[in-house]
Amino acid sequence: MQDNDNGVGTLDAIIIGAGITGIHQLYRLREAGFSARILDAGSGVGGTWHWNRYPGARFDSESYTYGYFFSRDLFAEWDWKEHFAAQPETEAYLNFAVDRLGLRPHVQLDTVVSELRFGETTDTWTVLTADGERQRARFVIAATGLLSAPYVPDLPGRDDFGGEAHHTGLWPREPVDLAGKRVAVVGAGASAVQIVPVIAPEVASLTVYQRTANWCTPLNNAPITAEEQAGIKARFDELYRACHSTVSGFLHPDGTRRTFDDTPEERTAFYEELWNSPGFRKMFGNYCDLGVDRAANDEYCAFIERKIRETVHDPVVAERLVPSDHGFGEKRPPMEAGYYAAFNRDNVELVDLPETPLVEVTRTGLRTTGTEREHDVIIWATGFDAGTGALARIRVQGEGGRLLSDAWVDGPETYLGMQSAGFPNLFMAGGPQSTYGNVPRSTESQVEFLAGLLEHARDVGAARIHPTRAAQEAWTRHVEEVAAKLLTAETAWYQGSNIPGKAKRYIIYPGGVKAWADRAREVAAAGYAGFELSRITTPAAGVV
Ligand SMILES: Cc1cc2nc3c(=O)[nH]c(=O)nc-3n(C[C@H](O)[C@H](O)[C@H](O)COP(=O)(O)OP(=O)(O)OC[C@H]3O[C@@H](n4cnc5c(N)ncnc54)[C@H](O)[C@@H]3O)c2cc1C
Repeated sequence: MQDNDNGVGTLDAIIIGAGITGIHQLYRLREAGFSARILDAGSGVGGTWHWNRYPGARFDSESYTYGYFFSRDLFAEWDWKEHFAAQPETEAYLNFAVDRLGLRPHVQLDTVVSELRFGETTDTWTVLTADGERQRARFVIAATGLLSAPYVPDLPGRDDFGGEAHHTGLWPREPVDLAGKRVAVVGAGASAVQIVPVIAPEVASLTVYQRTANWCTPLNNAPITAEEQAGIKARFDELYRACHSTVSGFLHPDGTRRTFDDTPEERTAFYEELWNSPGFRKMFGNYCDLGVDRAANDEYCAFIERKIRETVHDPVVAERLVPSDHGFGEKRPPMEAGYYAAFNRDNVELVDLPETPLVEVTRTGLRTTGTEREHDVIIWATGFDAGTGALARIRVQGEGGRLLSDAWVDGPETYLGMQSAGFPNLFMAGGPQSTYGNVPRSTESQVEFLAGLLEHARDVGAARIHPTRAAQEAWTRHVEEVAAKLLTAETAWYQGSNIPGKAKRYIIYPGGVKAWADRAREVAAAGYAGFELSRITTPAAGVV
C-alpha cells in the first residue's frame, strides 16, 4: 500500500464524489477553514453530468433552478441557453463552477474509492483506493450520488456480444457512431425516453425492449431568449425562495385544488394547460390529491392515455405504451420530446418484455422467448442501483469492524439521511433517506447542515460524531410512515425494487425539501440533537 497524503497528513475531510453535491460540499468546507479534498472515479468533474453523456441527455429541472444559489456571482455569470439544458451545457457549467471557485487543485480524479476503514483509537477514516493508494481524514462525506451505480441485468452471454454495448450512465467520451446501425435500447425509463427520439432518425433500425411502460409527459423545452435571461437574472431571490417553498424543490408551486372539486370540463381544461406547460409542473402543480388518491390519479392517467393513443398510430403499439401496473408519479415519470411519435417511424419497433422476456445476449444480438434480433449496438438504458448502490460498492468498515453492507442488509437506516449508527464521522450528502426532487435544492440544505455540524464539532473540540440509535430509528420510521401515505409502484426504484434481491425499503425521504430543511434547522438549533459528539481521541492522534 502506498501512503499518499499529498503532503497534508490527515485531512479534515475527504469527500467522495465530484458531482454537484460534492463540489458544493468541498467549497463550503474549505470556506469554513477545513482541509478537504474530493476523490472521484470519473476522469472529469460533474458526476451525473460527466457520466450520462448519451444523445438526448438533458434536464427535467429548469436549468436556472438547478445551478448553485450559494454564490450570486456564479448565478450572474452563467447564462443558461435552454430552459432545460442538455448534458454538455451542465457539464460545462459544473466545470466553470469548479474553476471559478478555485477548487480544481482539491479534486483528485480517476480515483475509485474501494474501501473505508474507521480507526477507533484515532477517530479517523482510512480511505483506500482501487489503485492501492491510502489517504486519511477525520471525516468522510460520501457524496456518491443517488443515481450513480449503473445497473445492467444479468443476462447470459452479455460478455460474448460481438457488437458495441454501452450503458447510458457510462457513455463514452468519444462519439458513438450509430448512423445506419441496427440499435437496441433495453429499457423504457427516463434515459430511454430521452435517447430514442434523438437517435431514431439516424439509425437503420431501433428496437426498444420495454419491461414496463411509463407515463411520459411533454418536457416543452425552449431556448432562453435575451429578455427571459434578463428576467431570470433579476429574479435570483424570488427563484430561490420559490424552489424552497415547494415540496419538490422545483419552481412550480404545489397544487392546492382537489381533482373532484372541479367539473369534468374544468379538469380537462386544467390537464390541457398542464400538458402545455414546462417540465414537472405536470406532477407538482397538478391537483394536490394526485399522489395520494387512487381515483384522482386514475383520472389524470386516463387523460395521458388519450394523448398516447392520439399520438401513436398503431393501436397495438399504443396499447403497449400505456402503463398498466402503476399510476402517474408512482414511478419517476419521464419527460418526453418526441418519444411517443418515434414509434410511428417504420424503423422503430417496440418489444413487450412481459410478453416475450429477454433470454440471452447472443454474439449478434438479443434473444427473447419469441425470437432473436440482430443488433450492431446494444444500449442498456436499464437504470441504476439507486440510493444505496454506490455505497454498496465500497467496503465500509465501521466500529467493531462492522460492515455497512451488513448493517443495511434490510435496507438503509440513517439519521436524517446524514449518518448511520456504527459509522462515526462518516456522512452522506445526497444519499439514501434524504430528500430528492430538484436535487441541488435538496442537497444544498444537506451540505449546509453538514458544514454546520463539523464547525460545531470543531468549536466544542469533538473528535467523534455519531447519531444515537434512537434518533436513527425514529428517522427511519418517519421515512416509512410518510412513504406509506403515497401511491407508489411496486416496481419503483424509490423502494429498491428494480434490482433483483435488493431489500425493499424506501430509499428517499418523500416528505419534501422544505420539511427536511425545517427539521434540519430544528436539530441544529437544538445543539445537533440526535448526534453524540465526543472527545475520545488518544493524545497520540493530536486531539486532547
Ligand atoms: C440521466 C439523468 C438525468 C437527471 N436529471 C435530473 C434533473 O433534471 N433534475 C434533478 O434534480 N436531478 C436529475 N438527476 C439526478 C442527478 O443524479 C442529480 O441531479 C445530481 O446530479 C446528483 O448529484 P450528486 O453530486 O449528489 O451525485 P452524482 O452526480 O451522481 O455524483 C456522484 C459522484 O460520485 C462518484 N463516486 C461514486 N462512488 C464512488 C467511489 N467509490 N469512488 C470514487 N467516486 C465515486 C461518481 O463517480 C460520481 O461522479 C438526473 C440523473 C440522471 C442519471
